[in-house]
Amino acid sequence: MRFFDVDHGPRRGDNGGVYSDAHLHLVDLEARDPDFAAKIPGPDWRGAAAAHDVAEFERSEALRKGLPPTLAGFGIHPQGLRWDTADYLGALAAGGRIAFIGEAGFDFFGDRPERVRNDENLRAQRGAFEFQLALAERRGLPLLVHARKATDILQGYAPRLRKLPSVIFHGWPGRLVDAESFLRKGVEAYFSLGPPLRRGGAHAIECCAALPADRLLAETDAPWQPPRGQAWTGADAIVRVSEAIGGIRGLSPEETGPLLRANFFKAFGSTGGQASD
Ligand SMILES: [Zn+2]
Repeated sequence: MRFFDVDHGPRRGDNGGVYSDAHLHLVDLEARDPDFAAKIPGPDWRGAAAAHDVAEFERSEALRKGLPPTLAGFGIHPQGLRWDTADYLGALAAGGRIAFIGEAGFDFFGDRPERVRNDENLRAQRGAFEFQLALAERRGLPLLVHARKATDILQGYAPRLRKLPSVIFHGWPGRLVDAESFLRKGVEAYFSLGPPLRRGGAHAIECCAALPADRLLAETDAPWQPPRGQAWTGADAIVRVSEAIGGIRGLSPEETGPLLRANFFKAFGSTGGQASD
């Protein structure tokens, strides 16, 4: 696996080369860059790939084989509610083919009719979420949560979320008090921070600075959430996100990499497996 950084050339020393991307989309990445794997920053990278469609999952599985050890997940995304993949998701979970369920959650950002918070949309999104929550409970799997303008709804599920091995809030959008509330309620919650940190997102920076260090994850959400002026995000963005987390926490790169790696393994209940190459 090649190791380089598009902006600054080789950076083998940074983070000790240890990068952990808690959230990315392999098939969407491949659609933008068939050679996307070359941007993965070295063999000591680990990732967690989400998929939301049967064909997408099968392609993601094929891509995963060519990468350093990467975890697979499948979910019913709140931005694309559907029930035709529910049985497939159930079979993946029963067959031990996925390491986590998700993205699952709520999206009430309001930028589309189905994302306006009203009774009808809330009922529909609750249905898909509760199905996945029950499946995660039954199979003892981590739940990877997508939430926009819905932290209060998720707080209502805390008594059930605390029964799960972990809950990973991808692109955690909430405030510090919200994050702390999940932890106080006994939820094994992890807060995954990504591109908004680098854009100076106030909530993300507040959470990054003050949450317990062992609850933080780094993610790119690649190819989504590109920096201003870019069409999409590459897997190499994890370098900048990790640097941002380390900078805010006052950690050296040599400390940041292993911290985020340990959190990644705890969050996904994985020992990381062996290198695939
Ligand atoms: Zn995503």
